[in-house]
Amino acid sequence: MTVTRFAPSPTGYMHIGNLRTALYSYLIAKHDGGKFILRIEDTDRERLVEGATDIIKSTLAITGLNYDEGPDIGGEHGPYVQSERKEIYMEYAKKLVDMGYAYYCFCSKDRLEKLHEEDSVGGYDRHCRNLSKEEALKNLKAGIPFVIRQKMPLEGTTSYVDSVYGEISMDNSELQDQILIKADGYPTYNFCHVVDDYLMGITHVVRGSEYLTSTPKYVLLYDAFGWERPVYVHLPLLMGKNEDGSVSKLSKRHGAVSFQDLVRDGYLPEAIINYIALLGWCPKNSESEFFDLDGLKAAFTIDGVSKSPAVFDFDKLLWFNGEYIHKMDEDEFNSVIYKFIDKEIPENIKRDKMLSLLRTRISTFKEINDKMDFFITLPEYDKELFLNKKNKISDYDIVRSVLEEARLTLSSLDAFDNDTLFASLMPIAEKLAIKTGTLMWCIRIAVSGMAATPGGATEIMEVIGKEESLKRIDKALSML
Ligand code: GLU
Repeated sequence: MTVTRFAPSPTGYMHIGNLRTALYSYLIAKHDGGKFILRIEDTDRERLVEGATDIIKSTLAITGLNYDEGPDIGGEHGPYVQSERKEIYMEYAKKLVDMGYAYYCFCSKDRLEKLHEEDSVGGYDRHCRNLSKEEALKNLKAGIPFVIRQKMPLEGTTSYVDSVYGEISMDNSELQDQILIKADGYPTYNFCHVVDDYLMGITHVVRGSEYLTSTPKYVLLYDAFGWERPVYVHLPLLMGKNEDGSVSKLSKRHGAVSFQDLVRDGYLPEAIINYIALLGWCPKNSESEFFDLDGLKAAFTIDGVSKSPAVFDFDKLLWFNGEYIHKMDEDEFNSVIYKFIDKEIPENIKRDKMLSLLRTRISTFKEINDKMDFFITLPEYDKELFLNKKNKISDYDIVRSVLEEARLTLSSLDAFDNDTLFASLMPIAEKLAIKTGTLMWCIRIAVSGMAATPGGATEIMEVIGKEESLKRIDKALSML
């Protein structure tokens, strides 16, 4: 069975790149009907951020990336938080020492710092690599602080095959005797993720390509223990577009790059997931770019993952988001939109009508605020706005006639819905011998103060109501 995991470090926010890793990892498991595990990698105790694990869990819940095993829900391979597994790593590190693939290192901080200053190449000089067993034991007994280091082969090469990048080889002479267990007793990422991936039965390790070149060190650990290596799936880098047209690693300076920020800005989780699924993966048998999570599960295969860096395009995400919003039904839309509305909506406004006019005209929920402004307050505008070639309006006489007639008709109305308004105003066109377009143009400019509006004259009037409509027409007449 395919078993994958998402193994984030709790950094305090969910970077869009991490979410993509979670998504791909989830999809690889679920495409095969396999298992998806969440593991929290919190052994870097200096970088811990309070509440960070909750952000990870809530992001996965909101996006529907439900895990089969993990913190809170448990499972047969728990615990799923690395700081709760400290003893396990020590036990495996000691096993490696016994087998000759690792060793105790007692070098003091001072010594290492000096070494660092003197040696421009950097790295550890393997000073403790050949300590005898007796010496090591004596030091341990004396309570000298220690770390445990991996004993890298000094010659030859180490290779593995990555599913996306192909064969990766590294000269062993380039490998440092990296630390497996730190002086505080906690393991390094380099060590504990290997132990956990093995113990949790992970068949496919899915993660960012920044780990591509350190993976030879990890496969050496698998080999030392005699464990079967997992399938590696390293994902292409995520880049952002810079102002000068170049690209660089996607970061905050490119815009909102955390899931939480995007949601706060009015993006839909479904749209974000759909868009990031396509950042580094291309569906094999589909013309459409639209996928919900079930569609992705069915379509996602590793051979569709590309190794070229993927560029995060905010405009494309915006477009996707708009498409998702426009497809929402009215109730669904109304149940989320109020969270994003940051101004009072006056009594005269017919809210549902207004929202249904705006729903298909926004690309993020937040845009609703700017778009609804003109319903609430008539913008300042110049009377020249009435003049319009297409509608053959070249002077203000016709505008004045239309608005005077319209005023008369409107003030006599009791019902003020779109259909009534339209039916009652139509005769004016005949009376003045003008086209409907010309009639409605004049009224629409008067009630909106804008050349382009969501909805036509009568729809806008239905939203703002009789009193406000008449007020706006009076204002126009006084300007003309
Ligand atoms: N904790 C690592 C990270 O967040 C996980 C890398 C991996 O998936 O192995 O980058």
